[in-house]
Amino acid sequence: MFDDFIRKLPKTEMHLHIEGALPLELLRSIDPKWNGREPASWADDFRYPDFESFDRDILGMVMPYYTSPERYHESARLIFRKLRDEQNVRYVETSFASGVMEFVGVDGAATADAIKAAAPEGLEVRVFLGIHHNGYNARTQAFIDDSVNWKSLDGVDLHGAETMPMEAWTDRVWAKFRDAGKMTKAHAGEFCGPDFIREVIRRLKVTRIEHGEKASRDPTLLAELRDAGMTLDMCPISNLKLKVVPSLKAHPLRRFFDAGISCTVNTDDPLCFGNTLFDDWQAVATEMGFARHELAELARNGFRAALADNAVKAKWLAEVDAVEKMTV
Ligand SMILES: [Zn+2]
Repeated sequence: MFDDFIRKLPKTEMHLHIEGALPLELLRSIDPKWNGREPASWADDFRYPDFESFDRDILGMVMPYYTSPERYHESARLIFRKLRDEQNVRYVETSFASGVMEFVGVDGAATADAIKAAAPEGLEVRVFLGIHHNGYNARTQAFIDDSVNWKSLDGVDLHGAETMPMEAWTDRVWAKFRDAGKMTKAHAGEFCGPDFIREVIRRLKVTRIEHGEKASRDPTLLAELRDAGMTLDMCPISNLKLKVVPSLKAHPLRRFFDAGISCTVNTDDPLCFGNTLFDDWQAVATEMGFARHELAELARNGFRAALADNAVKAKWLAEVDAVEKMTV
């Protein structure tokens, strides 16, 4: 339903892990075992048993590829071009994992530059450093402390297993990014409940939550998220395959949208889930019953939350208005 409308709608991609977005053709270029086959997790009925098996799966596929800033650049170029040309995306926020810097020894500042430099004309790209709950240690603390000064880095994002405690360094690092005028986000509410969402808002003062599905258990929290003007960068197909939701019909995006919360639609790790941005939007339209004007509003949410000048945002929003007004 609304396939043509979704294709024409200018879009954002706000929740995209650059490692988890590795195009299959690049994986095949370094590992011939992938020639002629796709990851088993691309099957529609595939479900990961738990987050740990997902983590093992993704690391096994992407770590052999992401060994240098040049590789990040090569991958980002292809990812960004496809988003612009095939998905009608105007604005992307993507994160890269401090864990790759830690275990492979790739230079973080050069990686941020390499990703930024891969942005094609007509696509705005913002780059985030993703740090795991236990990602700050003897091997990483020097570059994490320095990362706030990297010119190509637009912000920081809390990644990884939510069940691990949030350590004291996190508050300090997020405060440094905030003080430098950079954007801070956190993955929360994908697996842990409303208490953890409240904790990242209270301690890290983030204005953007990656996922947030588990807020659906707490109507008071939903009102708080709406009143605080929080944006939730949601990923329906990722949620289905990681069993965060039992079905797309049961996805809380519908409820959050109706409660007046700003939500966006994103892919998360398409190498693992086999999804395109179009697939996620189509799921929102067909499985969650979003009407045309509601889909347009979801697109606007992304552009409103974008890190861009007001004049640029106004241009994008006018494009959404124009597509919405087109006769079907
Ligand atoms: Zn994510």
